[in-house]
Amino acid sequence: MADAALVLFSGGQDSTTCLAWALERYERVETIGFDYGQRHAVELECRTDVLAQVRETFPRWGARLGEDHMLRIDALAAVSQTSLTQDIAFQMQADGLPNSFVPGRNIIFLTFAAALAYRRGLKRIVTGVCETDYSGYPDCRDDTIKALQVALSLGLDRRLVLETPLMWIDKAQTWALAHELGAEPLVELIRTATHTCYAGERSHLHDWGYGCGACPACELREAGWRQWRSVNP
Ligand code: ZN
Repeated sequence: MADAALVLFSGGQDSTTCLAWALERYERVETIGFDYGQRHAVELECRTDVLAQVRETFPRWGARLGEDHMLRIDALAAVSQTSLTQDIAFQMQADGLPNSFVPGRNIIFLTFAAALAYRRGLKRIVTGVCETDYSGYPDCRDDTIKALQVALSLGLDRRLVLETPLMWIDKAQTWALAHELGAEPLVELIRTATHTCYAGERSHLHDWGYGCGACPACELREAGWRQWRSVNP
């Protein structure tokens, strides 16, 4: 069996870069997304659009791109009271985490992904978690991922590899990685088709992409873009 991977794909900058990374490496790549009552369906619409554009713009990758799986996890909304699932303004909590944090969300996603990967015969799971900049979600840290890889491999009695190509790079380096993988066409696809903004804003296209320009996700994306563009005009 060819080396095959399942990519956790949300339609954002990071997971789209991870998708390209996986398509460059593996013979067969499938994608998984989660619908857990996000406040903005725009993110889910972007997924479909990004996948279609990848197929169209990169036929070589398109030939490797297999099924897209969408899982509903309604229970997540029931255990969280956050700005992503309820109509509460985004803010930072006293513990330094944004109030969008759903405790253990990434562990839940990876566990569902592992169950699907098992059923689909996919050995690798690729996720865009990153320890370098940003939120400090504890379940996105390298130690958590490594522990989870062991736990899932034991629990499924099958060797699973959790791949995290963005773990130690910042947002500017993520743009650079996209350029390395797919040059300007991929950078342009990510800039115009992916969605990062917490406010779900997609009416104005900035040079770094769509977004409100004010939420932490937009600020991070814009800063990374400017930093990367300043050395790669
Ligand atoms: Zn925003």
